[in-house]
Amino acid sequence: MNKLNRMFLLLMLVILFAPLAKAKDLTLTIVYDNNTYDEELETRWGFSCLVEGLEKTILFDVGGEGDILLNNMEKLGIDPKAIDIIVLSHIHHDHIGGLSAFLKENPGACVYLPGSFPQSIKNKVKKVDAKLIEVHSSIGICKNAYSTGELGTFIKEQSLIIKTDKGLIIITGCAHPGVVNIIKKAKEMLGKDVHPKGVYLVLGGFHLCWMNAWQVKGIINGVKKEKVEKVAPSHCSGDLARKLFKKAYGKNFILSGAGKKIRIKDAF
Ligand SMILES: [Zn+2]
Ligand SMILES: [Zn+2]
Repeated sequence: MNKLNRMFLLLMLVILFAPLAKAKDLTLTIVYDNNTYDEELETRWGFSCLVEGLEKTILFDVGGEGDILLNNMEKLGIDPKAIDIIVLSHIHHDHIGGLSAFLKENPGACVYLPGSFPQSIKNKVKKVDAKLIEVHSSIGICKNAYSTGELGTFIKEQSLIIKTDKGLIIITGCAHPGVVNIIKKAKEMLGKDVHPKGVYLVLGGFHLCWMNAWQVKGIINGVKKEKVEKVAPSHCSGDLARKLFKKAYGKNFILSGAGKKIRIKDAF
């Protein structure tokens, strides 16, 4: 093979394999939830979701009981020390109760918490080596990951937004400020950066467990109007809402619960 042919072959290989090498997957794992998915894991009221595949590994919320969080992590093969960032959605115990136990295992993590949190919780973070970041308005966390900032009036809450090539992924703790409001905020925040497809997935607690069917259907319409492709409601969404979302979303409804892994291929 002469030099020119060799160069041509090399160029073809680069063209063929470059897109494969570039694409990265994103994995979302529900570590803690009151809905069962993987029977091996313990379920308890609360929420925690691990995000892998970004520049940093993020644990969104830490559940209510530290021992359940750590046991579930062990069963899932997740090393707490491999987590770079903790994002706490809101003050309720079922989302932050596992913090001290986690920090004992990994005191070097960086904790993003709502600035309105009481000093006592901020001190828990300061007591160890962990870096504390108080979130007020929307901010970037790492490449392609953002916090909505504190939303809501009575219970302040932040949600996590991940920008992928398939659209936005929004992870909510309890969605006290309203799941539709959170989706609107995420889209407004990223403006022209929002993928033309809009929102790819909304996952987490939608806080609809106290609503009747008529009220839930109103929320489903609101979510659909925001062009959300897939939904994975768990935690405080309630059985009725999960049933109605499943009916409305069909194959785009993802049954979620403790141990559920959602792998998004070629996310970036
Ligand atoms: Zn909750
Ligand atoms: Zn709550």
